[in-house]
Amino acid sequence: MTEDLPAWNSEYDVIVIGYGFAGATAAITAHDAGAKVLLIEKAPEADKGGNSRVSANLVFWPNDVALAKAYFVALAGPYMDDISNTMVDVWANEMYANRTWLEGLGMTPFELPYVEFPEMAGSECVRVLMNGPGPMGGERLWRIIEAAVSARDIDVLYEAPAINLIKDCSNIVGVMTKQRGKNVAIKATRAIVLTCGGFENNPAMVRNYVDGLPRIFPNGTPYNTGDGIRMGLEVGAQLWHMNNISGPLLSFKAPEIAVAQWLNLPHGKSYLFVASDGSRFTMEGDPCLTGDLHGKVKRHGQWGQQALPVPIHMIFDETFRKSGHIGKATTDWDVSHGNLYDWSDDNIREIEKGWIKRADTLSELADLIGIPAEALEASVVRFDEFASGGVDADWNRAADKMAPLDTPPFYAMELTPAFVNTQGGPCRNENAQVMGADGNPIGRLYSAGELGSIYSFLYQAGGNIGECFAFGRIAGRNAAAQTPAPSMAKPFAFT
Ligand SMILES: Cc1cc2nc3c(=O)[nH]c(=O)nc-3n(C[C@H](O)[C@H](O)[C@H](O)COP(=O)(O)OP(=O)(O)OC[C@H]3O[C@@H](n4cnc5c(N)ncnc54)[C@H](O)[C@@H]3O)c2cc1C
Repeated sequence: MTEDLPAWNSEYDVIVIGYGFAGATAAITAHDAGAKVLLIEKAPEADKGGNSRVSANLVFWPNDVALAKAYFVALAGPYMDDISNTMVDVWANEMYANRTWLEGLGMTPFELPYVEFPEMAGSECVRVLMNGPGPMGGERLWRIIEAAVSARDIDVLYEAPAINLIKDCSNIVGVMTKQRGKNVAIKATRAIVLTCGGFENNPAMVRNYVDGLPRIFPNGTPYNTGDGIRMGLEVGAQLWHMNNISGPLLSFKAPEIAVAQWLNLPHGKSYLFVASDGSRFTMEGDPCLTGDLHGKVKRHGQWGQQALPVPIHMIFDETFRKSGHIGKATTDWDVSHGNLYDWSDDNIREIEKGWIKRADTLSELADLIGIPAEALEASVVRFDEFASGGVDADWNRAADKMAPLDTPPFYAMELTPAFVNTQGGPCRNENAQVMGADGNPIGRLYSAGELGSIYSFLYQAGGNIGECFAFGRIAGRNAAAQTPAPSMAKPFAFT
């Protein structure tokens, strides 16, 4: 606690913390309800947009509210216990309302057939929307939302991370930000909305909250470092859904690049993945490569989180090396931010950088990467037999996607689990209020988006962005509807 606090530097009705889809939606809605709104963003302007901007820009739109509720409950399965029926009702109704709201902002909905769990109750309602036909992503929905913010009298501050929420008795009354190295206190007369994303780029939180994945890197923004979780905890929030993530996807992380890069494998066949004991542990395809089912796998009849035996190496031969670039030469983050890594077509540049190790024999390669040579050789011999015989008796990889590693030299590239987003954070209720550990809402504090998402277990594609709009509107509406705080007292308590 600090008693000697600076006076307020400025004052707004509603302050929204984090400028992705959720923050933009809350800001637009609060503004349209008559509030004077400030949107504060940690990243520089060039890196704005969070995961929202670099996402595939897909929106899950349920075309029937009753079926949507059934599908939600089926997906949550045994992890439904902390989600009230009221919450599910509100989620379903607002998700349904998204389409009209987005059309009102200028979106041209184009439906994709992408039902992630067709066998689940209610799945007939699933429609996944993007803004017009064409490739996924490309900021095509982001630009519409960004334009809607720009068209309004909403102040936006970049490079202004929120560092603490300021609490007056039971109410949140302002936020301390860091601007050009200085602490700047901003008062919110009505409310604050937390929309500052998840903890994808906070290794300590990942270690504490995500089971089975000690090392995992973001495919999206590097700026989501769990700040909303820390700030929420400081003012007494309870957390939910911390162990639910969308991933892992096996990717490559170069030390000098902030985010993990996708792999590009379809061109070649003579490769396999091995764990640190030299054993093969997966089909080298669905689900850990493609991200289908967002990292959940069914084992022994039960769905669960995919875990991976890191460190993992991809082993391949000269034929595969020559067959095309192994890195996708892009990540969505790099493309959006003009920071594209140009992966060489023959992978030579990456060998020279040391990202890929080369050796004349498998035994020497094993020594280079510190795994038992006999085990690696045995795994490759077995894989080669499967590839030649046309049946992968261990992992059922398709015969037309396998070929023996018969052309030296041999190569190893370390892979890393990566993920698109976390779901956990401060728990919110049907009014988008952040809930305290005592079970009561924290006064004048709201949230939306992937920071404390409603998704506790299985996940339908497009669900996060849909929730950003749904709860962004609820949060913006309710924040603007608060009666202005009666006093202009200086902040007196922040931790
Ligand atoms: C590659 C990729 C593809 C995806 N595709 C889809 C998809 O098609 N459909 C879907 O539904 N979901 C998708 N997702 C997930 C989805 O994009 C996110 O869950 C969603 O966009 C989160 O929106 P948000 O507004 O909550 O957070 P973000 O968009 O991540 O925005 C949070 C913002 O808060 C800022 N911030 C962080 N800390 C602070 C602080 N202390 N102070 C101020 N600002 C701060 C960050 O810089 C960031 O700009 C994808 C994710 C990725 C990475």
